[in-house]
Amino acid sequence: MADGAVRSIVIVGGGTAGWMAAAAFARFLGPPFDIRLVESDEIGTVGVGEATIPQIRLFNDGLGIDEDEFLRATQGTFKLGIAFDGWRAPGQSYIHAFGSIGRPLGLIAFHHYWLRARAEGAAEGLWDYSPSALAANANRFARPNESGLPSGIAYAFHFDASLYAAYLRSYAEARGARRIEGRIADVARRGEDGFVEAVTLAGGQRIEGDFFVDCSGFRSLLLGEALETGFEDWSRWLPCDRALAVPCAPVRPLTPCTRATAKAAGWQWRIPLQHRTGNGYVYSSRHVSDDEAEATLLAGLDGEALAEPRRLRFVAGRRREAWRGNCVALGLAAGFLEPLESTSIHLVQAGIARLLQLLPGGAIDPSYAAEFNRQTAREWESIRDFLILHYHANGRDEPLWRACREMEIPASLTEKIALFRAGGRIFRTEEELFTEVGWLQVMLGQGIDPVSYHPLADRLAPEQLREFLSLASSHAGHVAGRMVDHADYVAQRCAAA
Ligand code: FAD
Repeated sequence: MADGAVRSIVIVGGGTAGWMAAAAFARFLGPPFDIRLVESDEIGTVGVGEATIPQIRLFNDGLGIDEDEFLRATQGTFKLGIAFDGWRAPGQSYIHAFGSIGRPLGLIAFHHYWLRARAEGAAEGLWDYSPSALAANANRFARPNESGLPSGIAYAFHFDASLYAAYLRSYAEARGARRIEGRIADVARRGEDGFVEAVTLAGGQRIEGDFFVDCSGFRSLLLGEALETGFEDWSRWLPCDRALAVPCAPVRPLTPCTRATAKAAGWQWRIPLQHRTGNGYVYSSRHVSDDEAEATLLAGLDGEALAEPRRLRFVAGRRREAWRGNCVALGLAAGFLEPLESTSIHLVQAGIARLLQLLPGGAIDPSYAAEFNRQTAREWESIRDFLILHYHANGRDEPLWRACREMEIPASLTEKIALFRAGGRIFRTEEELFTEVGWLQVMLGQGIDPVSYHPLADRLAPEQLREFLSLASSHAGHVAGRMVDHADYVAQRCAAA
């Protein structure tokens, strides 16, 4: 890098994050960039991370991946949202469905009209106006623009994380990225500026690069260990620090949604794939022993367990800087937010997109790192607040949940809740991932009820309001009704090779 221009990129780690980065760099940078990825079979990958949000489609589309081929390669299924069971109180459920609910009228959002109608006793449940929620509850799916469906339906995937990484590996290697097998034993830094100069494998091979992407997982080999970037610990708000993951035999119906069931000391996920169902219990080790957690997880499976449960430990939070010097961290090396809203793979994708906006073409300017870090911090903090909302606004009675209800929450979240409670107002600000309708569903679903709504909703005459809502619910019902059984749809798409 005599002229300071970045030409060779070394990716450290070949989990989902590493191979997503390699695939994107190979696709969008290609030659003259030299892209190498170092990974160690001996160490392996975390192997979980199977539920996504709709933005994953932008990533796959950007790579030019055929969606049916991707489904076949990864044993994938479709996802229309996340069903939350038992969070407000045991036995109560709601769904965070993707896509819109109703449509805005004039200046204001649909939910203000719905709140007014509800106050007047003239509304159905909020989710009766959501095509995705109706379809998810009926186990139906079809892609937008098929069967005459409108294009506004948002969907994501469940997939086998190891198969996805393998798929992206062949994609990246076919486009010139090179894989180097070996365990990194040492990281060398340059004297003058502290930039990473090279990584050395246990066998002695030295791999130099202009820019390094740390995808080494929880260990954060470059950013955390070598560059000593501190960690911002968020466990005071997100107290779960362990997870157990176990696959079980698939059962029917094939649900087009992830399920997150609140338990006494955490919550259990259920992710339906074609060949198996992924399950896991995310829990607070201060509130339950590992053995009790395992018993809870196994008792909550709906198919025969296919392996021994795998144990994982983590601390919620993020590296204070995601970019330092000539190194950016992606994936678990950058931090950990529990998979309650399936956001980690998205954060990898967002980091790659941000990097591609800043990196190519020339030398590294300190302003690039500053902007990358500013955007990353905002994005992570807004997701953090969204996750804390699920914990804080609960109606359960166990010690973990009582403590979460009573804990002091970030001011940014307090303000968001206050705005909603006062008059149903929700604002999406810069770099915020979740939409107004996402916040709406979780706030209402967790039992936060606004005391009023936007006064402009009163401008509609009662019969106009009834007609507006009735059109919205029949539209949602019509869209969901045009969809087909999810399992049949997946089988059909996967058979069409
Ligand atoms: P890893 O998969 O751990 O990969 C690390 C790589 O670094 C490996 O290839 C390893 O060999 C390599 N490596 C490490 N040290 C060295 C070394 N010294 N030398 C050479 N190579 C090395 N995300 C979602 O979006 N949705 C979910 O549903 C979801 N569920 C999750 C559930 C749990 C319990 C956890 C813990 C995470 C979940 N995630 C989820 C997050 C998701 O799993 C990760 O974001 C994703 O898998 C990326 O992991 P990674 O590639 O950063 O790390």
